[in-house]
Amino acid sequence: MVLLWPAGRRRYGGFMQTAEVVIVGGGIVGSSIAYHLTAAGCKDVLVLERESAQGKGSTGKSMGGVRAQFSTPVNIQMSLYSIPFYASFEKRLGYPCDYRPQGYLFCATSDKHLAYLRANQEKQIALGLKNVRMVSGDEIRRMFPQLRADDILGGSFCSTDGFVDPYSAMIGFMTWAANHGAKLWKNTLVSAIQQDHGTFVVETTRGKVSTKHVINAAGAWAASIAKMVGIDLPVEPLRRMLVPTEPFDQFPHSAPMIIDMSSGFHFRPEALGFLLAWNDPEETPGYKTDFEPSFIEKILTRAADRVPVFENLAVNPKRAWAGLYEMTPDHHPILGEAPGVPGFFLANGFSGHGVMHAPATGKILSDLILTGKTELIDAKLLDLARFGEGRTIHETAVL
Ligand SMILES: Cc1cc2nc3c(=O)[nH]c(=O)nc-3n(C[C@H](O)[C@H](O)[C@H](O)COP(=O)(O)OP(=O)(O)OC[C@H]3O[C@@H](n4cnc5c(N)ncnc54)[C@H](O)[C@@H]3O)c2cc1C
Repeated sequence: MVLLWPAGRRRYGGFMQTAEVVIVGGGIVGSSIAYHLTAAGCKDVLVLERESAQGKGSTGKSMGGVRAQFSTPVNIQMSLYSIPFYASFEKRLGYPCDYRPQGYLFCATSDKHLAYLRANQEKQIALGLKNVRMVSGDEIRRMFPQLRADDILGGSFCSTDGFVDPYSAMIGFMTWAANHGAKLWKNTLVSAIQQDHGTFVVETTRGKVSTKHVINAAGAWAASIAKMVGIDLPVEPLRRMLVPTEPFDQFPHSAPMIIDMSSGFHFRPEALGFLLAWNDPEETPGYKTDFEPSFIEKILTRAADRVPVFENLAVNPKRAWAGLYEMTPDHHPILGEAPGVPGFFLANGFSGHGVMHAPATGKILSDLILTGKTELIDAKLLDLARFGEGRTIHETAVL
């Protein structure tokens, strides 16, 4: 038998592994937390992932969009840490994340939406975002004459928004952490968590692990992990589908993420084609990860309505996919120590923004665990208690 943990001890009738911090879930959020803890000097971090490979949860299904164009200060602040982090990812970690600052262009077709973008932009600038600006309808028509833009009144554009490759970022975070002392156990399902005099015993298919700190980074499955310590976590899975097109050269590949605010349809260049997205309001919560073929017609109708040349798009339904958003009632993540369970930390409920906010989440969780506070945001805003205390903060800029 190989003893992986010299500090292991016999208890509970079997060999007990130990770790200073146990992270449940090896997606981009768990990996970023592992990186930030390790980089801050915590050398005994163990990440538990039930799958045989990382990225089989939401991270591997993501569209990879990163943006600071949000409506609430706390989301903007999280992006103000995360996007420069992605911009310098390779320099910091030595691995690529394929950050492409091609921007996000929101197109408004009503005065209400335009006023909303303007108010958001003022907040973003006040918080220190530099490259966001309002654009006129004429400017959008000049930038992209391929758009049907007769009803576009204007919009907002931020040139440092863009895309990353979520899989590469996740692997970069975890590889760096592993090279500096962290451990990743794959094929390791967490089945129960016991509390024993200020210590947790995490039961897994690979044995028990004793630790002072558990971090729930289980994505769309976070509520079941929280339930193991008696916490009712308001995080629900919601299916999102993406449709990649075959190679297409009648729209520029230097384009930003373009968002049609009248329908919610948005798209971005991907390889030689485009990646099409639309939030179907008829979707209901649940662990549905099958791609629904009827979605193709729904999305192509909206695509051709805004971009007439998209009538000529070719789509192979076999290449389309579905994944899960982890939704909270106010579309903000739940971060920090769980009330009544000291040492149990939450990093959940990103509501469609977990890739873009993974760097900030890693920093915040690492700060909270190692020092009890963080300067990055007012952590109280995102605690779990806000739901019981009427302190929810609604993000309306959700795609
Ligand atoms: C179609 C789609 C498009 C998206 N587009 C964007 C986008 O453009 N920008 C953006 O920022 N975000 C986007 N998102 C959201 C983003 O992908 C998620 O918020 C993010 O990946 C969450 O990361 P995570 O690490 O928390 O979760 P996951 O990547 O789901 O990782 C959680 C891990 O926990 C593991 N796990 C669960 N239960 C257990 C257990 N009991 N024991 C051990 N391991 C367990 C799972 O196997 C999984 O690997 C998109 C999501 C989807 C589905």
